[in-house]
Amino acid sequence: MIDTNLSQDIITNLLPAIPDGVFMFDRDQKVIIANPAATKLTGLPQEGFYLPEFTKLFKKRVKVDIDEVIKNVLSKGVSSHIEELSLVRFFYEMFISPTFDPAQNITGGVIVLHDITSIVEEKEKYRALLMGIGEGVIATNHEGKVVMVNPSAQDMLGVKDTELVGKALTACVMMVDEKGNSVPSEQHPIRLALSLGEKLTTTTYSFIRKNKTKFPVALTATPVILENKLLGAILVFRDITREKEIDRMKTEFVSLASHQLRTPLTSIGWYVEMLQSGDAGVLNDKQKKFLSEVYTGNKRMVTLVNALLNVSRLELGIFTVEPELTNVVELVQSVIDEQKQQINERRIRFSTAFEKDLPLIQADPKLLRMVVQNILSNAVKYTPEKGTINLGLRLIKRGAFVDKQKVNEDSIAIVVSDTGLGIPKNQQNQIFTKLFRADNVREKDTDGTGLGLYIVKSIVDHAGGKIWFESEENKGTTFYVILPISGMKKKEGSKQLS
Ligand code: ADP
Repeated sequence: MIDTNLSQDIITNLLPAIPDGVFMFDRDQKVIIANPAATKLTGLPQEGFYLPEFTKLFKKRVKVDIDEVIKNVLSKGVSSHIEELSLVRFFYEMFISPTFDPAQNITGGVIVLHDITSIVEEKEKYRALLMGIGEGVIATNHEGKVVMVNPSAQDMLGVKDTELVGKALTACVMMVDEKGNSVPSEQHPIRLALSLGEKLTTTTYSFIRKNKTKFPVALTATPVILENKLLGAILVFRDITREKEIDRMKTEFVSLASHQLRTPLTSIGWYVEMLQSGDAGVLNDKQKKFLSEVYTGNKRMVTLVNALLNVSRLELGIFTVEPELTNVVELVQSVIDEQKQQINERRIRFSTAFEKDLPLIQADPKLLRMVVQNILSNAVKYTPEKGTINLGLRLIKRGAFVDKQKVNEDSIAIVVSDTGLGIPKNQQNQIFTKLFRADNVREKDTDGTGLGLYIVKSIVDHAGGKIWFESEENKGTTFYVILPISGMKKKEGSKQLS
């Protein structure tokens, strides 16, 4: 039993100190006492009125019938919670609990009104933001089940949010990769974001709309983590059909322009050669020197134009791949022979380490030759005189490691190490991008287009292989190329790489 002093203390000290509105009422719903916060919120007196006078303040704005809820509390003796109510311009949550006498008879109840205006306003701001932005946004819970789909996502996917909410996102929004193969649910970016707890960004997938058409997307899947607890994930995406289209138009333009440039460059080459061989009369030394400059410049242009043409053919996907059983050792040896002159001129100590009895692999010899040519010529170009280069060929069994990287299929490894300029650490992540040349090689004024490794990587990727390198500036570089023996897949294209 609470003694009367304590009861008085509660009324005079505790209740006024509570920022929430508190009402105590009897079985007849007559308010026995309301704290100052309650009277301030509602404008009602501290006691002596009946609950319907209080509940009618909310009536028009609430979806639930508060009077019903109160009646229920009084008859069943169980507490209730109403999540969101509005009164004037403020928002509240309401807790209604029964009160009991010592014999456990219901004597009435207590209402607590808690101000949640700032939470509701914050929620509303986010809602308006999500509703207004052009990006599609889908939120899931920690199991990957959809909890929210914004209007842009609904428009893009051609679905209503009600069709998605509550379902596993991976089961109701289908994705395909660039080849049109559907992305398995465990590879779905939202699944990966949830399982790895990391943000993922990709532009390689397309979403399938409800009407089965597809559109390419740039998307980001971000896990939502609070205090180390995974709450869910957010998928943000935009339709990049137009960007892909512009990219394609640009590549087609490069393809066309470089194709057109080849013809005049070829005739310049011929005419210079004719002049050099004296077909138009004997040349003096100065004329020979100038012509030799024209010839070198023209050759560089031809190399650049060919590389651009190759890049555009790779990007347009119109290149041909004609695999045949290829002897890698012979192919590599012939590339070495081709470059022997430069190797000797630079007085490079060159060695090879070819494993015996390497199997033949299914590869397009022209493409494989381009890969080896590029990697070896880079090693030669970027290794100063008297440096060392080693070219190794090894058979790697499935599951074995090459330089810490696991090989998933029986493969041949081509490893080229040099003691050259190396690649600065801060630029290593850009080496396979188009037109990129590291500062240290540009300073040295070496020849190059910055397209070689981009082409090489595209070819190796097509062959299901891997390429990477290790490098330290001024110490040297090792390039690793892993090619599965099962090899390249045949591809009918309209153009050869050259
Ligand atoms: P490039 O025509 O400039 O050689 P690549 O695409 O073949 O173009 O190579 C890109 C860049 O990678 C080069 O410009 C150079 O900075 C760096 N690189 C490639 N191979 C080597 C190497 N063996 N040693 C040092 N740097 C290299």
